[in-house]
This record gives sequence, structure tokens and C-alpha cells, in this order.
Amino acid sequence: MPEGPEIRRAADTIAAALVDRDIHTVRFGIPRLRRYSKQLRGHRVVSIETRGKALLTHFDHGYSIYSHNQLYGVWRVIKGHKLPETRRSLRLLLQTEDHSAILYSASDISVWDTGELGMHPFLAKLGPDIMDTSLHWRDVLARLRDPRFSGRELAAIYLDQAFLAGNGNYLRSEILHDAGLSPRARPAELTLGQAGKLARSTLELSRRSYETGGITLSPRLARSLKNQGLRRGSRRFYVFGRAGLPCFHCTGPIKRSDVSSRRIYFCPDCQGAD
Ligand SMILES: [Zn+2]
Repeated sequence: MPEGPEIRRAADTIAAALVDRDIHTVRFGIPRLRRYSKQLRGHRVVSIETRGKALLTHFDHGYSIYSHNQLYGVWRVIKGHKLPETRRSLRLLLQTEDHSAILYSASDISVWDTGELGMHPFLAKLGPDIMDTSLHWRDVLARLRDPRFSGRELAAIYLDQAFLAGNGNYLRSEILHDAGLSPRARPAELTLGQAGKLARSTLELSRRSYETGGITLSPRLARSLKNQGLRRGSRRFYVFGRAGLPCFHCTGPIKRSDVSSRRIYFCPDCQGAD
């Protein structure tokens, strides 16, 4: 499943095709939504927002399309209007003068008054989005200290979309490693310095992954490994997917364990974990 940085990059591609453009064609592949085509056609898309795994297409006249890809949904953006041959079912088609954005296979699509989106049952439960550029590390720190989260293990909080939307499995391992914290630690046990470092690592690594196309290593380490001839798959992450391999900091072996059937990786030495 894609995480915040991957979802945001997909949204950027859709935004490049649709934002500030009039939508000439709106087609819904779901019968109950067809009545909205007329309401949206001829209007302008003003922004594409991501909230966790949901994508919001905002129009200039106060309407928004909510879509959630779930497991099978996939967006395609193409130049022109000739739709590709595919066996996938078309769920939503938005066309401008020169581009088509097509959502296939997703079934969780709805049209909203933009002002009422807060009442959407999925969105209402989400924490702030990890890719939201206005999110400050102090906001993350405040959430870590919030009683809803402060007594729970970091491994659990860092997959909870109510804590931070858009966070996911590889980021969880990478962030906790960067902050030097055990997956089993709880925010309430951390010093202010540790919690502050964790909050900063949270934003730094997700933003870095977004900018680099999925690399969480520091640019300097990534460059040095590249110069040593390592393939891309071996120079993306500090710990994720690296069980048994040496830690880049202390050379001790990385460990893997499974927390609620999701694998987590860590360095026992650097993170004081076992
Ligand atoms: Zn280490």
C-alpha cells in the first residue's frame, strides 16, 4: 500500500493536468453518481488535496469529489482524450482541453459540498496529514503528548491514521530509527528532547521521501552508497527490509519483528530495543 509521499506524488501528477483548468467532461462509472456530472461539468478544479489515502478534487464552485483507492483503485493521467484499452472498470473520468485523468476500479467515490467534507466518516477520524506542508514539528510533538496517544507504543501510533494520516509501514521503521527510539517505547516515557527529535524526524523523513521518490537515507549517505555501486533497492532505507544487514551507524545487524502482522525493522543497539 502506498504511503503519504507516494500518494502525494500521484496527486501532483493529477494536479498538473487538472488544476486551474476547466473540466469539459465529467463521467462517473457508478450509476448513483451520474447526476453529479452536470453539476461539475464546465467548472474549474482549484486544487487536489490528499488526506491519508483519500484524494480530494476541489472545484471552484464549492463542490469536491472524494475518492479512496482502497486496494485496487488506480489513477491514470494521459495527454489527449483517447482512453487506453483496459479491462479495468472506469469509475471517474475528468477531461480538460488537453488531458484526461481517469480513476479505475475504486468504488469509494462521493461528491460533497466542500464545506461539509469534515463530516465525511473517514476524514473525520483522520489526524493531520503527514504531507501537509503547513504541519510543523511542534504540532507533531503536541500529538505525541496528547493522552490519546502518549500511553501507547510508538509502533502502534505510527500506523494509526488518527495520529498522523499518510504515515505507513516503511516510514514507521525509518522514522523510529532516525530518532533512535525503540518501537516499544511510549511517548509518555520520552524526555522532551527525545520527543522533539522524534517529531522532527517524522516530518523530515516523510518530506525527504517525497522529494527523492522514496529514499529516506540522508542525501550524503545515499550519495556515498551510490558511489560504491549499490543498486537503488539497497540504498533507500536505513533499516526497512534490511534484516540481518549491518546498521549504517553501528554496523550491528538490523532486526525484524512483526507488530500486528506488519513487519517493523530496527537496530537493537542504536534504538535501545530488543
Ligand atoms: Zn545501529
